[in-house]
Amino acid sequence: MSPPVRFQTSRPVLAGKELEYVADAVRTGWISGQGSYITDFESAVSRYLHLDGGIAVSSGTAALHLALAALGAGPGMDVIVPSFTYVACANAVTYCRATPVFADCDRTTRNLTRESIEASITPNTRGVLLVHLFGLPAPVEDVRRFCDEKGLWLIEDCAQCFGGTAADRFAGQFGDMTVFSFYGNKIISTGEGGMVFARDTERRGLIRCLRNQGLDPTRHHWHPYLGFNYRMTNLAAAIGCGQMEMADYHIQERRRVAARYRMNLLHLQQKRLLMLPVNPPSVCSVYWLYSFVLTAGGEREKERVRDIVLEEHGIQTRPFYIPLHLLPAHRRARTFPQAEFLGEHGIVLPTYSGLSDEEIDEISEATANVVLRVFS
Ligand SMILES: *Cc1c(COP(=O)(O)O)cnc(C)c1O
Repeated sequence: MSPPVRFQTSRPVLAGKELEYVADAVRTGWISGQGSYITDFESAVSRYLHLDGGIAVSSGTAALHLALAALGAGPGMDVIVPSFTYVACANAVTYCRATPVFADCDRTTRNLTRESIEASITPNTRGVLLVHLFGLPAPVEDVRRFCDEKGLWLIEDCAQCFGGTAADRFAGQFGDMTVFSFYGNKIISTGEGGMVFARDTERRGLIRCLRNQGLDPTRHHWHPYLGFNYRMTNLAAAIGCGQMEMADYHIQERRRVAARYRMNLLHLQQKRLLMLPVNPPSVCSVYWLYSFVLTAGGEREKERVRDIVLEEHGIQTRPFYIPLHLLPAHRRARTFPQAEFLGEHGIVLPTYSGLSDEEIDEISEATANVVLRVFS
């Protein structure tokens, strides 16, 4: 018999006025895809991140799909996507009938680099989908310069990097398009939700139209485009408004939790048993989920560590992504050694606002002991 789960990997923390705002939306009957919480949430996120014209949508995946559609992604076009990321990235490209061409990541940052992107360029490459994974901004200045040199567009996927900075600017300020997700385990959540930012103001109008079934906002029942129902509800946006009032808190909490895990687990890195997340100079991670990568063993040893910390200590962990080129829907013959290494060796630890120092110490100690036991 295993003990009950004592620490979930992730959970939303609704510690502000979320309930008050949702109750207000219910009381006034504004529960659907229109209402003042939607526009307030769009303004709050835009203001916080120093970006213009955020467009709230029903998910991060919808945000990616609309960003790609508004850039004209379509058949015969290649889009560079990391192999090591969440599946939504490759799915959204495929929804547009464009082709995701995978690129490998750097083992220490887990993000794409200019060099890895360059190694995946084809004659049909039109753009790059750059993901800031686990809250760490990718080398976005380098990649922006590269895209400008090659005439490629750049989409930043900030789903895991709300509030992260590169060169003293928020991640999200470099792309032609930038997307966020507000899924329940993200730094800011609306339950399900997302947001798109477009640098180009005409494309903003197109995205607003595509979000709402391609409807012309000035003429009833006139749909000049094939659009989607990707509206965010006013209920979800009400939660988002409560969350945004606490955005500083949620970001500081992620950083506090990460610093404490790092301090507690550093001795295992010094013994070369695992690698902790890095934070290169000039970027500032928000540590969406804290994690580590075992340096030895393989899939089996990693799963043993995860099983034991769950069964003996009630600590829920998560393995890293299976690289997308190994999934049936996106299978490729090419290998991506860094993505595969991370997929086999990575473990995500419980990370959320309010996880106390004592709890972090307990999780760290239990995990460290199990790693030492499995690898001794
Ligand atoms: C969560 C996430 C998404 C998709 O967001 P949903 O809101 O779940 O559709 C996209 N990209 C990355 C990197 C994510 O982490």
